[in-house]
Amino acid sequence: MIAVVRESATPEQLDHLVSWIEDRGFRTNVSQGASETIIGIIGDTTRIDPFILESMDIVDRVQRVSEPYKLANRKFHPEDTVVDCGHGVLVGGGSFQVIAGPCSVEGDNLIKIARAVKAAGATMLRGGAFKPRTSPYTSQGMGAEGLDLLMEAGEELGMPVVTEVMDPRDVQLFLDKGVNVMQIGARNAQNFSLLREVGKTNVPVLLKRGMSETIDELLMGAEYVMSEGNANVMLCERGIRTFETRTRNTFDVNAIPVLHHLTHLPVIGDPSHATGYTRYVRSAAYAAVAAGADALEIEVHDCPAKAWSDGAQALTPEQFSDAMRRIALIREAVVASVEEA
Ligand code: PEP
Ligand code: MN
Repeated sequence: MIAVVRESATPEQLDHLVSWIEDRGFRTNVSQGASETIIGIIGDTTRIDPFILESMDIVDRVQRVSEPYKLANRKFHPEDTVVDCGHGVLVGGGSFQVIAGPCSVEGDNLIKIARAVKAAGATMLRGGAFKPRTSPYTSQGMGAEGLDLLMEAGEELGMPVVTEVMDPRDVQLFLDKGVNVMQIGARNAQNFSLLREVGKTNVPVLLKRGMSETIDELLMGAEYVMSEGNANVMLCERGIRTFETRTRNTFDVNAIPVLHHLTHLPVIGDPSHATGYTRYVRSAAYAAVAAGADALEIEVHDCPAKAWSDGAQALTPEQFSDAMRRIALIREAVVASVEEA
């Protein structure tokens, strides 16, 4: 349930109303927008009589929120959330970022790739140190040493680092290393203990959509993180599994406007995992930008044939740089068309 507060309400009146609601055993979430203040009420709201709330002077109107996701719901928070990822990089609310780097951190080539993606215009560096591999016999990543390489590269280049955490027991290590954004991969999208653990921190979380997750299930994953107190969540469409076998996954471009409609959280498009093949990655990237993605996450490798993982979908630095030129043009057109409307 949400209570929309009148503009004339004083901060004291607002505090008083929040306490009144919390005294009745509910959790609240106050969203102070430019034009409206909304009190989100969480709990068994069938126990609240909306007429009692509506009869209060400072309450303009009361609305039930039927969706099971509350904190992630745009009805609770009409304005876009902007996530501060560090090094001055903001995701959401009209800014546009590109996250790029190799699938796996492999060693000395990381800094070379990082410099190349930065030169091409990427604003955030990605790389997996803990890798969720289908086979236990393939490389599982460099682990903590990989995090060190990422952080060194991020510091040198002034780029926030995005890297996947797979195990709730590793979250403290990620905090100790100063990782800027913790990625939750598709395979862990519904690992609720992991979601809760990253929710207990205030480090931004990039939550990928599970391979067979519905949009609502993705939003419930975000709700797990947010319900623990971490509001810095970004959602990522990375393709879903369908009957199609010509591509690794099917890029659900629809999810981008649907998510923007349903949630205030930033939406990121990952054309690399969505397509699985270098030759298609750029087209999917352009589609994501045109559909209104707040950021892209793209895998880049200096020698894709030798990559430890996902070489088949990696762009070379040259291909990435070419893609960035077109991405910038499409983004300009999107912004211009929004301004015109
Ligand atoms: C990755 O980003 O390298 C990755 C493993 O992605 P996903 O979880 O989307 O498969
Ligand atoms: Mn990958």
